[in-house]
Amino acid sequence: HIHTPQTLLNTLSAEDVSFLRLQFTDILGTTKNVEVPRSQFEKALRGDVTFDGSAVEGFTRVEESDMLLTPDLSTFLIYPPFSAGDGERGRVARLICDVTLPDGTPFEGDPRRVLQRQVERAAGLGFEMYVGTEPEFFLFERDASGRGVPITHDKAGYFDLAPIDKGERIRREIAHKLVGMGFEIEAAHHEVAPGQHEIDFRYAPALEAADRIATFKFVVKRVALEYGLLASFLPKPIAGVSGSGMHCHLSLFRNGENAFAQPEGEYGLSDTARYFIAGLLEHAEGMAAITNPLVNSYKRLVPGFEAPVNVAWSTTNRSALIRIPAKRGASTRAEVRMPDPSCNPYLALAAMLAAGLSGIEERLEPPPAIGRNIFRMTVREKRHHRIRELPTDLREAVSELEKDAVIARALGDHVLDHFVAAKRAEWAEYSATVHAWELERYLDLI
Ligand code: GLN
Ligand code: MG
Ligand code: MG
Ligand code: MG
Repeated sequence: HIHTPQTLLNTLSAEDVSFLRLQFTDILGTTKNVEVPRSQFEKALRGDVTFDGSAVEGFTRVEESDMLLTPDLSTFLIYPPFSAGDGERGRVARLICDVTLPDGTPFEGDPRRVLQRQVERAAGLGFEMYVGTEPEFFLFERDASGRGVPITHDKAGYFDLAPIDKGERIRREIAHKLVGMGFEIEAAHHEVAPGQHEIDFRYAPALEAADRIATFKFVVKRVALEYGLLASFLPKPIAGVSGSGMHCHLSLFRNGENAFAQPEGEYGLSDTARYFIAGLLEHAEGMAAITNPLVNSYKRLVPGFEAPVNVAWSTTNRSALIRIPAKRGASTRAEVRMPDPSCNPYLALAAMLAAGLSGIEERLEPPPAIGRNIFRMTVREKRHHRIRELPTDLREAVSELEKDAVIARALGDHVLDHFVAAKRAEWAEYSATVHAWELERYLDLI
């Protein structure tokens, strides 16, 4: 749909929309909404709704705390009803907004702007990046007071005749709602761990893919709540079982053709694909803090659970950070397996695109693709194949980010400074905490 403010106003009234959610994302990836009633629709569509930026994480610039929300009219969608009675007083629609300063200039701390800058950089080189995401999540029980507990419904559902069905019903309901909102879902399935699910999005231009992830998480949580469950995107909620990743299938298109495909090339890949992959590998450590931003993210990146630990690529196996799925032609793509669903999707895609483009600009050659399971390689074999390891914790990842000029430049000073400060504070708090593991391991012993 190509909307103008006037056609959209007509649609809002024809569709009986009574609230408009103006959506944006803070630096840490939390979705924010300024909800306006009918009387404010015209003003909202004109981009005249202001909010106090100093109240938003990472937007703190007190001297210019009034910021404007400039809606991207192409992102218009109407939410389905989530519970009985929803919609009786009119429906709720959303528009994703760019954040601008009072003088109309884009706010440099807006994560969506960070991704737009990389999308523009790609366009300058003749490319458009497409992204298909595979977010994974758990459905957990809630206790009597309504708080989520890390007990999965299909284990806890002792009295439920068919607990598996409950999860499947909820997942189907989620997929149904998303399709109703115009999202293209390729698959929805149960994952390896009990209570774990995955929904696969059809590939879309990078900005649209990021926009969808933010709304997707809201829908998943909302539907789960409707069934009395908690949906969590925490990367590793339970030790010893699979964590939740958000694999991102990346491809570049040029003049409507997949620029990664080259039938005569090694593995059927073009130079562009190889350079792009090399760039992703080169900057894997530097972008980890962005793609895997929580203390908990690094508990997923351990051997044995199909999550990557090593910086390597492969056309065959899932222990590598980048896998090249077998499909060629228009479907030729690189699956980046590192990101997890706690990341800010705008920043994560911006970091991956920046890394890949710098590989293209520098004509970086990737190390040889790995054909074997890296988890079974010895240290010497890994060294021989030039296989490095991903950061093992958030502290290391943040240091790697600060050292990586390509990723730092892609984020821009404002986002980088606020992100690093927030993550350092998170780490300091974690380090000063005495964890259950320490007591279990040492209290009696020492
Ligand atoms: N859950 C795994 C991860 O953490 C992925 C499993 C899969 O999709 N094959 O990345
Ligand atoms: Mg999958
Ligand atoms: Mg999966
Ligand atoms: Mg996958």
